[in-house]
Amino acid sequence: MADNIKLEVVTPEKLVVSEEAQIVMSPGSEGEFGVLDGHTPFLTTLKTGMIRYKDASGAERAVFVSGGFAEALPNKVTVLAESAERRRDINVERARAALARAEERLGKSVSDHEVDVVRAKAALMRAITRLNVIGTK
Ligand code: ATP
Repeated sequence: MADNIKLEVVTPEKLVVSEEAQIVMSPGSEGEFGVLDGHTPFLTTLKTGMIRYKDASGAERAVFVSGGFAEALPNKVTVLAESAERRRDINVERARAALARAEERLGKSVSDHEVDVVRAKAALMRAITRLNVIGTK
């Protein structure tokens, strides 16, 4: 069996994940990519999405990430994200409130040109993705 790889997910505020993983799937800007031991090194930007990995015991884990970069080395994946939370650390009420705010802003955007549509859409995507991460399992 292949060796594990080290997964590290960090934000400007905190270290979110630092553990051994059997496989890591990440939301690259050019599409989702998977990293196993021995992967060819590369660097990519990330989009808002879910990092999924199998920990050393084979349990499936999900982590929310928004923005940033991932570096894959043959035995390590490092993610530097603008924000990231493990599934268990996502506050569902906060994500639902953010979703409602973003929907309201986008609903108003047709008549109210003060609404920043790009920003509201990005907030909507973060909220939906957080709720999707909570919904895994
Ligand atoms: P909100 O409008 O609720 O702040 P947001 O998508 O604008 O949501 P971010 O800019 O992505 O928030 O993150 C700001 C900080 O708040 C980060 O530290 C992030 O981890 C944390 N955070 C945001 N939403 C949640 C949530 N639902 N549960 C836990 N932490 C959250």
